[in-house]
This record gives sequence, C-alpha cells and structure tokens, in this order.
Amino acid sequence: MRFEVTATDGAARAGILHTAHGDLPTPAFMPVGTKGTVKGVDPDELRSLGARIVLGNTYHLHFRPGAELIAEFGGLHRFMAWDGPILTDSGGFQVFSLRDTLLALDDDGVAFRSVYDGATARFTPELAAEIQARLGSDIAMCLDVCRQAGSSRQELEEAVRLTTLWAARQRTAPRADGQHLFGIAQGASDPELRRRSIAEIVALEFDGHALGGLSVGEPREETFETVAWSAPLLPEDRPRYFMGIGDPEGILEVIERGIDMFDCVLPTRLGRTGSAITWEGRLNLRNARFARDQRPLQEGCPCPACTTFSRAYIRHLVNQEELLGLRLLSLHNLRFLLDLTADARSAIEAGKLASFKSEALERLSTRQVSA
Ligand SMILES: [Zn+2]
Repeated sequence: MRFEVTATDGAARAGILHTAHGDLPTPAFMPVGTKGTVKGVDPDELRSLGARIVLGNTYHLHFRPGAELIAEFGGLHRFMAWDGPILTDSGGFQVFSLRDTLLALDDDGVAFRSVYDGATARFTPELAAEIQARLGSDIAMCLDVCRQAGSSRQELEEAVRLTTLWAARQRTAPRADGQHLFGIAQGASDPELRRRSIAEIVALEFDGHALGGLSVGEPREETFETVAWSAPLLPEDRPRYFMGIGDPEGILEVIERGIDMFDCVLPTRLGRTGSAITWEGRLNLRNARFARDQRPLQEGCPCPACTTFSRAYIRHLVNQEELLGLRLLSLHNLRFLLDLTADARSAIEAGKLASFKSEALERLSTRQVSA
C-alpha cells in the first residue's frame, strides 16, 4: 500500500505516504528547492526544522546543471545530499508562467525559449518522464498545461485536453525504481472543465492526484470554493496535492477541504526580501520600529532565529544585506509553516481541526500589524 489515511476529521485527512526514501506524514508542507536547494538552507537544517520532503524542479534542473550530470552522481538525492523523499514538478508550470517564453503548443508537446539563454527548447511528456527518471525523485509529476487566471474558456478547454493526452503518454513512459507518478487536473475554477479533467485524470489511475491551475491569480474565495467541491472527486485512497499554496490561512483552508500535500516558495522568498511570517502577520524587518525590539521574531518559536536573536539584530542584518539575516528569516518562516502543518495534523487526529483552525485564523486576524 502506497498511501494510508490514518485519521479523518470532516473532509480533512491525516495519512502516511510511503516512498522509496521513507514515509511522509500528511498533511505535508513541501519546501521548494527549485534548483536543487531550498535557498539558503542546507539539508541538515531542513531536517531539524521538521521538513520531511523537498521539491525539485524539472525545468530548472534540466537546463542547469542537466539531468545527465545529476544522474552521474546517482540522482538528485545524492547530488543535493538530501536522503528523504523528493517530489519533482514537471516543468509545465514554468513553461506556461515564465513571461514571454512560450513559442508553440501542439499535441506532441510545447516549444519555448529557455529562460537561461533564450535557446529554443521543447518539452514532451516523454521527456518530462525521462528527466524525472534521471533525477530519481520519489514522486514525479505529469507534464501539464497550466493557464493563468483570466484565460479564455477555449484556452482552458485546450489545456484540459492536452493535459489528459500528455498524462496518458507519460503514464506508460519508463520511471525510476519505486517512483510514484501523480496526475494533474486542470480546468481552473470552471465546474464543467474541472470535473472533466478530474474524471479523465482519475481514470488513468495515478499514484496520487494534484489540483493544478489554481492559486494562479483568481480570487481566493474562488480557489477555496473550487477545492471544496473538487477534492472529494479525487479518490480517497490516493494523496491529493494542491500545487502552490503556502501562506498560513491558505494552508489551513486547503487542509480542511481534504488536501494532503502543498508547496510554496513563500517562506524562503519572504525571507530573502526581509519578511517574517508570524502570528502578528508579516513583519517587514526593514522597518525602523524594530530597531530596538528585543523580542524574537515569534515568541515561543523553537527555530534557530527565535531562540538566539532579537528582532533588532535581524533588522540590522537585513538592512546591511548580511546573508545571515536573510537565512535566519527563511529558517524561521519554514519552521512556522512546518509547525502549523504538523499541529493541524495533530488536530485532525484529535478530531479538533475546526476549533484549531478557527483559533488560528482568529489569532491571524487580530494581528496588530499587517503586511
Ligand atoms: Zn522562529
């Protein structure tokens, strides 16, 4: 058995996903290591923050340093020295979201300009499978067509059609030993297209399913409403992955609606721009009001930043563009979201997710400062 649901609370689930590199307790927040590194954070630190899985990115690793080179090192686990589970996304999101690089889209695949040197490149489902097999990730994702919010119905319908066509081909392509393959459903918030995409992807019998094409610029209420009715359409006995959410409210909302896995660059991106995720909201550490603030970023947080340093010191580091400041903020932000997710898991096991969530949202909404 690859995935077990060990507790439920309403639509929410706690479970365990078994992978070739160990068990992943769910719900799971997955830190993003786009280029084979969670920016500024080494694998030992990730582990001690409570991370159990990291994401790698097919698009970026294909161009730099190349999957062949990584395969020479025995795969991405050994190359980046992370021995836990790795999920690799397929590159579809990057191809369709990186500005002005898309060249042509047809049944066979997609042509685009590499964001690195502008050279013409092409992804097909077969190549997405081959790259991810070489990387040796524990969970590979299907190449999909992901459209941004505001796309025409015709574009969305074509995205659904190609995503299914490609998923069927990638389903039969060679994989790494023990590698799970997840299908991705598209269709934005369109009830008919989303239902169609889910039905077609589920019929292909993947090891897990992702909701793609959400959190791409549509209003948040629409995102959560779509998750609420579409998550139950996914098989109960397989993990459900919401692609691209990672703020505290968003995490709680998708967990409550039955999502098991989610990822976001937010904790490290905010860290690098000088912001901390706290129960008071986002703190911009560049702000002068922290100049003499002796408190930790978040009272009671066990991360290396909060147990050792004051807001004033971190503000000083950030304003001087010292690497340590940006790193400490990333460590704290990751810890905050990993702890929130682990606490939500415990609340599901105790049958208390609703009260846990409402208390958490109340804490977040009564914050004294905003972003
Ligand atoms: Zn902290």
